[in-house]
Amino acid sequence: MTLDVATNYCVHNVGAMPGSDAFLLVTAEMSALIDSGFSFCAETMVDNIAEVLGERPLDYVLLTHSHYDHASGSIYCKSRWPDVCIVASDYTAKIFAKESARAVMRELNAGAARLSGCSEWVDRLDELRVDRCVGEGDELSLGDMTLRVLAAPGHTRCCIMFYDPASALLISCETLGVLAGPGLVMPCCLVGYQQSLDALDRAMAMPIRRLLLPHHGVIEGDDCQDFLRASRYWLVETHRRVREAHAAGQSDAELRQLLRDLFYTDIAQLVQPEQAFDLNASYTIPLLLKE
Ligand SMILES: [Zn+2]
Repeated sequence: MTLDVATNYCVHNVGAMPGSDAFLLVTAEMSALIDSGFSFCAETMVDNIAEVLGERPLDYVLLTHSHYDHASGSIYCKSRWPDVCIVASDYTAKIFAKESARAVMRELNAGAARLSGCSEWVDRLDELRVDRCVGEGDELSLGDMTLRVLAAPGHTRCCIMFYDPASALLISCETLGVLAGPGLVMPCCLVGYQQSLDALDRAMAMPIRRLLLPHHGVIEGDDCQDFLRASRYWLVETHRRVREAHAAGQSDAELRQLLRDLFYTDIAQLVQPEQAFDLNASYTIPLLLKE
């Protein structure tokens, strides 16, 4: 494994398949998995991580939020690295403790498994847990890198991001949007429109040289602020278009189609099953009409 000379860390995509979000951050001394993908292919992700780390242990799993495509694989890391510390917001811990929330995760994992032709896996979702709850301002040491936690509600209440001031790396979450094509960023606000705008404005005011985007990977240099600007534009524009269409009498189905036409591109389809896209739209549309 070679670390990037300029930054002394490297980031690998260790996701088992598209949509199963998992990136491995490796510094000179320590390692952290950023999000942990689906449950049904978690063993493959664990093998991918082990291949990068070799004899080194996995120290942390950092969860940006509790959704099934980001958090389900976390517990599977414990069988390979029993001492790994799972880090997330306290709201994520509360969600993991809810049987009804785990049932939704189970159903969405099963849907994604069906689509990828997987029919057998060990379901460990009832063991999901958070070892260390963090919130705004908390710091996490990865040896020569210190990550600062930023609360970023908007996509969900449980969303957090991680920032390394020394290398100006921002590990973002879906509150900042998901890349759906060149210059096209899908707004992912499910619980807060203004909160999502605030998170974007905050990020736009920060020095950022590298940005880890969910379901995509690292972008660098000017591309970081370009992404944030595009994301803000599409958030405001979607808000305007949905409200305008609603005022013109369009039905819920027509509003969902409006979102599909805009954002359910080939790239988006690769990382998000239809079931998940529709579920998200069923939260986003009423939110945009309310706020
Ligand atoms: Zn999500």
